[in-house]
Amino acid sequence: MSILKDKKERETWENFIQILENKLPGFSQMWVTSLEPGQPLFEESENGIFIIKSPQSFGIQVLERKHLKDVEDALFEATNIRRVPKFYLDETIKVKKKQKQTTEEKNHSEAAIRMESLDYMHSVTGLNLKYTFENFVVGENSKFAYNVARMISDNPGQGKYNPLFLSGSVGLGKTHLMQAIGHQILKNFPNLKVRYTNAEEFTNKMVDAIGRSKNTGEVNERMRSFREMFRNVDVLLIDDIQWIDGKKRTEEEVFNTFNALYNAGKQIVFASDRPLSAFELIPDRLRSRFEWGIEANIKVPNLETRMEIVKHYAAVSNFPVSDEVAMLLAKEFSNNVRELEGAYNKASARASIEGVELDVENTSEFLELKEKKKKITPENILEVCSKYFNVEKKEILSTARAKEVVNARKYAIYLTRELLDLSYPVLAKEFCKNHTTIMYQYDKLKRDIQTNKAMQIVTNELTELVKKN
Ligand code: ADP
Ligand code: MG
Repeated sequence: MSILKDKKERETWENFIQILENKLPGFSQMWVTSLEPGQPLFEESENGIFIIKSPQSFGIQVLERKHLKDVEDALFEATNIRRVPKFYLDETIKVKKKQKQTTEEKNHSEAAIRMESLDYMHSVTGLNLKYTFENFVVGENSKFAYNVARMISDNPGQGKYNPLFLSGSVGLGKTHLMQAIGHQILKNFPNLKVRYTNAEEFTNKMVDAIGRSKNTGEVNERMRSFREMFRNVDVLLIDDIQWIDGKKRTEEEVFNTFNALYNAGKQIVFASDRPLSAFELIPDRLRSRFEWGIEANIKVPNLETRMEIVKHYAAVSNFPVSDEVAMLLAKEFSNNVRELEGAYNKASARASIEGVELDVENTSEFLELKEKKKKITPENILEVCSKYFNVEKKEILSTARAKEVVNARKYAIYLTRELLDLSYPVLAKEFCKNHTTIMYQYDKLKRDIQTNKAMQIVTNELTELVKKN
């Protein structure tokens, strides 16, 4: 612990460990013992973050996901400085055992490891721990699907919502939402068996069972255990079901699985990149089964929801973003939440490595969004303003004083400076004016925009158009 310079720091750290242990339930305390500070204890960091290292990646997940607030509070109580903890894995740290552990704690911690373990959850159910309702941001685009998903989670197997057929294009949260149903049902009804699979895995397992049956002659045995796997459950979630369209043998098997489960009152959920109406080759009897329940479509989230999604990631990953940065990401990545999430992750990872906060400037740099900016030329801007205000380009560049011409010109000047960062003399040349006139017009518009909502809207619209052009 070389980072702890003196006795006072060492004692403070021990105190922090103690306070934190007292705040946590017994079975989470084991992850606290080996923690180490990643920076001097009493230094206020600029970004308000305090780095804590741990040799246990699973411990980090538990502390980060379940007890972040407790860690923050304990740190504050011990040091009197409020900072947000950020965990890093450091496998060179020696894992320490907790000294006194009661039998109850021991049992608890074993159960905790088993229950909380991502691997355990995944191997039994196929579910990813991240895909919960709590981590799903609901917007107009997904409200209906979300509400149905919630209802199913409270009452699985009810005819009205059985099966649920979730559709929507790639990266909009279908897999997330269907797995959230699985998690919630396990929470509500711990004894129910949930299984998540996708059409391809289902098919591979089936082909494998058929192949082995042929080789070994144990036809019934292999197929039986395959069927058992998918029929001996209370909730079956089959993802990417569009994949089976036209694959006869799989369709047959899905049909049989469906019937067995449905007749036993079990819940079935399908997710598909295409709406059911776009399945072309599926046999009618299977199509009609899919139609027995309800189809819910997820659409592209609007700008506001996309910003909320970014804010949500920022909150859970503990790397804050400003409204401007959220807006930038939401605008740039507008039709695929997976890409939006990827962009946030990439930008925040870079910022965190470089020890800086995210702002519009470095976010565009980290994500190489500047490329697009470079394509903007004075000619583009002129073109857009000319169309928008219905004023000839020639006129904008002339000395004409007609009101609408002057208006179009001032926006053209403003945007050219704002988006291209040209100097006044260069601007003056572009607009055939002297540079004090240009400077005056730019400054005036800038001031006006700050106080005038309508002008802000016009500027935003023009900027959008220029970027698209
Ligand atoms: P799909 O199955 O529709 O292709 P996914 O469910 O795999 O999409 O979602 C892609 C990524 O975007 C996932 O990491 C998921 O957590 C995230 N995501 C999608 N929609 C949302 C949402 N509404 N709120 C939070 N995260 C979302
Ligand atoms: Mg998916």
